[in-house]
Amino acid sequence: AIPTAFLVASGRGAQLGVLLRGPEALERLRRIDTVVFDKTGTLTTGRMTLTDISVVAGEDADAILHLAGAVEYGSEHPIGRAVASAACQAAVGGQLPPVEDFRAVPGVGVHGRVDGHEVVIGRPRADALLPDSLQQAWDLARACARTAVAVERDGRPVGILTVGDTVRPSSYSAVRHLRKLGIESILVTGDGAAAAHAVAEQVGISEVHAEVTPEGKTAIVARLRDEGRRVAVIGDGVNDAAALACADLGIAMGGGTDVAIGAADITLVREDLQAVVAAVQLTRRTLGTIR
Ligand code: ADP
Ligand code: MG
Repeated sequence: AIPTAFLVASGRGAQLGVLLRGPEALERLRRIDTVVFDKTGTLTTGRMTLTDISVVAGEDADAILHLAGAVEYGSEHPIGRAVASAACQAAVGGQLPPVEDFRAVPGVGVHGRVDGHEVVIGRPRADALLPDSLQQAWDLARACARTAVAVERDGRPVGILTVGDTVRPSSYSAVRHLRKLGIESILVTGDGAAAAHAVAEQVGISEVHAEVTPEGKTAIVARLRDEGRRVAVIGDGVNDAAALACADLGIAMGGGTDVAIGAADITLVREDLQAVVAAVQLTRRTLGTIR
């Protein structure tokens, strides 16, 4: 019965903008009782914009943005795209300097050498004390539930970049409808607690895990599965790939990274989270409700 149901459901799924990798995806979708949401790029649009730059005394904000933008140019993370596009707009002729030794560490940040400087952008290292002026900018960003990252030049913190993002219009209704279907939603993010809780509150999620590494995301999914839950993960980033693969069902955002899409069983082509609800309803109708 499944192949026929699959043909029917995958045809309907395509109309909903839901691409299914195979028949097993349907059966698993029907049975999930828990959805683990990523924040940036999943519950939020991921179209971030730079909202503030703070630098230590004696530094020039444009120069710091120039260095940071050059490194972030190689990043596919929403934070990286926001920083790179702001830097391009501010740069004379829109040109950013070339980068050597670019490295991206999922869930942590990026590194590269620009104009002879070692530049690191990301979460401040736990052992790196921020100078007072940057600490204030950091605390302010946190208080406003914004996402902030630190810029280090040659091992010294020189600036804080703050980026803003908006919650997808479909997030709130998706969470509410999933609950009606008996499916619980959990937010797991690499971002800080304040930004995480602000988004969770807007979309109606009460269980939140913040500052979680990519390995930590996988561990949370594994623990939920050990508890006997049937877990779907929805994410967009390189940092979500392992958790997507470890879940009973991985769901990737269509505009997400290739790594996430490759690790997922289902892709949301239109990035509409309500489509997940419609797809669950569809599989329950097509394959019968559980128990
Ligand atoms: P999320 O789980 O919300 O998608 P990530 O796990 O991708 O977040 O990132 C977690 C944190 O790592 C970010 O909040 C940021 O501090 C840092 N980070 C990741 N990628 C970058 C980047 N390209 N530039 C700066 N910081 C980054
Ligand atoms: Mg993400």
